[in-house]
Amino acid sequence: MENTARLELNDPSLLHEASLLNGEWVQAQSNKTFEILDPGSRQTFACCPTNDVADVDQYVVSSQRAFENYRKVNPRERAQMLLKWHQLITNAREDLAKVLSLETGKPMVEAIGEVNYALGFAWWFAGEAERIRGSIGQPSMSDRRTFVIKQPIGVCVSLVPWNFPVAMTIRKVAAALAAGCSMVIKPSPEAPLSILALADLASRAGFPKGVLNVISTDNDNTPAVSERLCKHPLVRKVTFTGSTRVGSIVAKHCSEGVKKVTMELGGNCPFIVFDDADLKEAVAALMILKWRTAGQACTHANRVYVQGGVYDKFADMLCKSTEQNIRVGHGSDPHTTMGPLTTSRGVEKLERHVADAVSHGGMVLYGGKRPVNLAGYFFEPTIISDMTPDMLSTREEIFGPLLGLYKFETEEEAVTLANDTSMGLASYFFTKSVDRTWRLLENLEAGMIGMNTGNSSAAESPFGGIKESGYGKEAGKDVAIEEYLVSKTGTLTVI
Ligand code: NAD
Repeated sequence: MENTARLELNDPSLLHEASLLNGEWVQAQSNKTFEILDPGSRQTFACCPTNDVADVDQYVVSSQRAFENYRKVNPRERAQMLLKWHQLITNAREDLAKVLSLETGKPMVEAIGEVNYALGFAWWFAGEAERIRGSIGQPSMSDRRTFVIKQPIGVCVSLVPWNFPVAMTIRKVAAALAAGCSMVIKPSPEAPLSILALADLASRAGFPKGVLNVISTDNDNTPAVSERLCKHPLVRKVTFTGSTRVGSIVAKHCSEGVKKVTMELGGNCPFIVFDDADLKEAVAALMILKWRTAGQACTHANRVYVQGGVYDKFADMLCKSTEQNIRVGHGSDPHTTMGPLTTSRGVEKLERHVADAVSHGGMVLYGGKRPVNLAGYFFEPTIISDMTPDMLSTREEIFGPLLGLYKFETEEEAVTLANDTSMGLASYFFTKSVDRTWRLLENLEAGMIGMNTGNSSAAESPFGGIKESGYGKEAGKDVAIEEYLVSKTGTLTVI
């Protein structure tokens, strides 16, 4: 394709405009392809196969065949392959970040940060491979012995979004392969290339053919291809990260075959700042939490509640810090601190949210529109004060660089407002009170609570939401690898 000149890789062989089937780089049977756009310029820079429903079976069958052998590979060997994968990803970090930056729009510094964050999961699950444990129970009858063994569940399917394709993929793949499962990945049509590069590195790390297959397709074919994958009788587990709307569709497909499912869904995360907070720390945390990935992260602060005594000061500090630190531009420009949104849909949604907030009395303190001089899917970092519960941005996940400020007076009020959502992914608060910290940890309805921090995700901590933000955990000791295991109870009579 033209424009690939923009993507100058140290190892150009990592760029695959193909799907990965049983160790071979292949096209769709129809030979159709779809275009991958650079959201910072709206130019096409690559294309990938448009697989359709007729292509799906061979990917699953290949994964099933691979699973039959791979399940017998001992845990130490699986761990060694994961560590080799970790090493190869580390060596290819810059190339991976360049691909990621171009397909998602995120600045290079953020793309490198995503690869570094993701590497933690490859390392962590290499260790987990050797820590899979069954158990032996105390017998209730003297001639009985009961024990539980853990085994890999089988062929898994991974459906991932475009916002963190590298991190989401490594988090899922490393857990599945550590457990002894095989996996078919269907990347998001916006960002398949970094995932294909990761799969190539997994092959180079020694994972047998078919243990990791990648089937690409476009937005039109995604629903049917995903449905076929989820309903395929050989598939035993589906791990989905994406919106709650699509997650519930995927869960319905999986219910037919009673498949095990992990659902990492949308967020509508509150960020609460109390009068006694260290405001400098709170602003610094929010700057990263909100503006990184141009606001397109499930764990980002969607609603910022600030106590009356510091509301005006906090708003002022936030606007000044945004003015000083955020430079909107193309992801490849080293001066850029905020890239474009990844899709045109995202920009249109932001325009709706800003118009709605203003029509309900919101005051635009900063930004508020598309920058005039940039060709891609850009939007200014936007801060709106005087937000209220009836606004669109209060009810819906914004998924963009719009930061709404809400005023509250008491702790009880803050908790009620924070919990007034169907979502429950993450919540954050800043306070110096230890008592309040405990109360909020217990009272906020979310799967992850950031206390005086905007970052509550790491390989060693369980990641996942409650309520409509999903179920099942990724990362953390025992719980994440358990998602890819089945347990079998053995009962023995001893005479
Ligand atoms: P999305 O739900 O539109 O898409 C997610 C995946 O599902 C993509 O691969 C997409 O191609 C596929 N898909 C789309 N329509 C489908 C259908 N009808 N049937 C089956 N599959 C379908 O989400 P997105 O816009 O790519 O990503 C943004 C969303 O993801 C946000 O809601 C965000 O909060 C969520 N997210 C959650 C987490 C988490 O860990 N909880 C992490 C990142 C993103």
